[in-house]
Amino acid sequence: MVKHQRCPVDPGSPDQSLRRKLLHITKRLGDLGLNRGTSGNCSVRNASGFLITPSGMTIDEMSSESMVSMDFSGSIIGGGAPSSEWFFHRDILQHRPEVGAVIHTHSVFATTLSCLRKDLPPFHYMVSVAGGANIRCARYALFGTQALSDVALKALDGRRACLLANHGMIVLGRDLDVALAVAVEVETLCEQYLRALQAGEPYLLTDDEMSEVMERFKGYGLWAKY
Ligand code: 13P
Ligand code: ZN
Repeated sequence: MVKHQRCPVDPGSPDQSLRRKLLHITKRLGDLGLNRGTSGNCSVRNASGFLITPSGMTIDEMSSESMVSMDFSGSIIGGGAPSSEWFFHRDILQHRPEVGAVIHTHSVFATTLSCLRKDLPPFHYMVSVAGGANIRCARYALFGTQALSDVALKALDGRRACLLANHGMIVLGRDLDVALAVAVEVETLCEQYLRALQAGEPYLLTDDEMSEVMERFKGYGLWAKY
């Protein structure tokens, strides 16, 4: 149960740099065109639970003080109203200890593909960035609900990205920089796949070919570690 309360942010708190980082990544998502208006949200793990972007605010309106601190019971430790999607941010960070940050976007190509309710198949080797041979599309559920969190966690099983039917995408990373890098890749892949579909029927890589890629990725730059 969320308790809405407003606690002032201690300027000496160790969360100050995390708050600034969360704001920076939120602004980067805007600059890259991955989120517009009030769409999307981000979170990052901290000592008491996680910091999450505020609800219904444009990126330009946000400051580091707008970021909301929550614990895993769903209580607000400091700040105003948290993102309406705090359920899936909380559940992912609680159930996936290897994950340090969660980003949700309504970016154009991922959202377009999500409206077709199709998994992104292995049409390109970079699909393996998400941790497997496809990027699943979660079943439709209303935004800001536990039901959406439940279907998202299922679609994210063994993956660090999924689509949300008629909504957008979720990506995960060990930190906010990696999560942002995954978001950029997933959006690029969705654009490429949609363009390939317009031109014909894309050839798909086989399971063996994708396993080979995933083996190679174990020693490949940013993607080597979760
Ligand atoms: P919030 O502004 O509440 O984070 O909502 C944006 C969003 O993308 C809901 O799915
Ligand atoms: Zn959304």
